[in-house]
Amino acid sequence: MNDVIIIGGGPAGSSLGCYLSMMGISNLIIEGAIFPRAHVGESMVTSSTRVLKEIGMLPIMEREGFVRKYGASWHAPKGKEFAIEFGEFPQAGIEQDYTYHVDRSKFDQLLLKRAEELGSKVYQGVRVQKVLFEDDWARGVRVKIGDSEVDLPCKLVVDASGRSTILGNQLKLKQKDPIFDQYAVHAWFKNVDRGSGHTADFIHVYFLPVERGWVWQIPINDEITSIGVVAERDVFREAKLDVESYFEKYTQTNPDLARAMQPAVRINEFKSEGDYSYCMEKFVGNGYILIGDAARFVDPIFSSGVSIALYGAKYSATQIRQAFETGDFSAATFVPYEERSRKGVAIWYEFIRLYYKLLPLFTHFIQSKEHRLQVLQLLQGEVYDRSEVPVLQAMRNYVQAVEASDNHLFKSQLTSIAID
Ligand SMILES: Cc1cc2nc3c(=O)[nH]c(=O)nc-3n(C[C@H](O)[C@H](O)[C@H](O)COP(=O)(O)OP(=O)(O)OC[C@H]3O[C@@H](n4cnc5c(N)ncnc54)[C@H](O)[C@@H]3O)c2cc1C
Repeated sequence: MNDVIIIGGGPAGSSLGCYLSMMGISNLIIEGAIFPRAHVGESMVTSSTRVLKEIGMLPIMEREGFVRKYGASWHAPKGKEFAIEFGEFPQAGIEQDYTYHVDRSKFDQLLLKRAEELGSKVYQGVRVQKVLFEDDWARGVRVKIGDSEVDLPCKLVVDASGRSTILGNQLKLKQKDPIFDQYAVHAWFKNVDRGSGHTADFIHVYFLPVERGWVWQIPINDEITSIGVVAERDVFREAKLDVESYFEKYTQTNPDLARAMQPAVRINEFKSEGDYSYCMEKFVGNGYILIGDAARFVDPIFSSGVSIALYGAKYSATQIRQAFETGDFSAATFVPYEERSRKGVAIWYEFIRLYYKLLPLFTHFIQSKEHRLQVLQLLQGEVYDRSEVPVLQAMRNYVQAVEASDNHLFKSQLTSIAID
């Protein structure tokens, strides 16, 4: 019998495989695709470095020459640009002042290979059809191999199936986000004018003149740049345009972006992603755990997803080790992982909500001497094990003051998002 079966070999599943193998816990990763496979989510935050270091991925990242990401830059609709650099806020346990932009087909394959090197057994091209339960306990998974269905028993099932959310669907745990219903259209381009100088390889985020609208510009290598247009799904619906015309239209609405895209040539098909913000009612149960996107997905404006997946693996591994030490695989053993993870992601969520509530608030706070380092701390993914985040309260207070005033400069830019 397998000790642990992990469904999915994305960043969450593979990094968990690494941790468990390092702890001497045998694990099988079952991945439905055959790698390399394309995936959205190409820009990381610096907190990821801690996990990559622990599982021995940093030398591999350097050897493979992934683009170093030293900072981030935002472009307001009228062309004003402001940037941050990670070197300004050093993080405990992280020696580099940069993180990475990645071609996910390559990164995910290397991470899965790293898990295999450390001891994970890996099946690729095998889809899990369902998680098997006896009474209230997960006891294994059913996979389809060729025409046959095969049941694989284990002591613990981990759902790391990403937005496929296999266990969340099976147990009807999914709660759609009450606020966010975003839609993204993206593709890779050659010849994007990324500018020159040290900000050329930053992530660039361009604000669009529609509610919750923005565009990402992520360098994949010297030649290729990923560009994605994100806005509320209604903006796409109401535009009544095909994906290409919609993309063209909105990339023209920010002058800096229009300039960057002028010489650009698309090199692959457009892909679209929608309906991607949700939270599962619970992340753990008897004999099972959900990690990464399989547990929760928050809007990608701050490139948080891979970091959340990696920390989900790190923190769940601690509780899994405890389960193997005590022999107790009940939900109670895994609850500390759920609490730690929920609290961390709730900080990302609140930050994102305030960002969308009032865009100038973000620009104001990031440029303020008093708050800048605290905002950097959030942008760099330091959201876990924090008892308080004063800058979020300061942002809430600021929003309330704008709401209460009759003539505040930012009043007309408040959106309809509710802030508690
Ligand atoms: C528009 C958009 C932009 C984004 N931008 C960023 C960004 O810039 N930076 C960032 O960090 N994050 C970003 N993200 C989020 C990021 O993509 C995810 O958070 C991250 O990939 C989560 O990793 P994961 O391992 O949980 O899931 P995944 O990476 O999705 O991996 C899940 C794996 O499970 C496999 N699988 C699924 N079902 C089964 C099954 N039944 N059986 C076997 N295998 C299965 C899949 O094939 C897949 O390989 C973005 C997301 C979106 C939608």
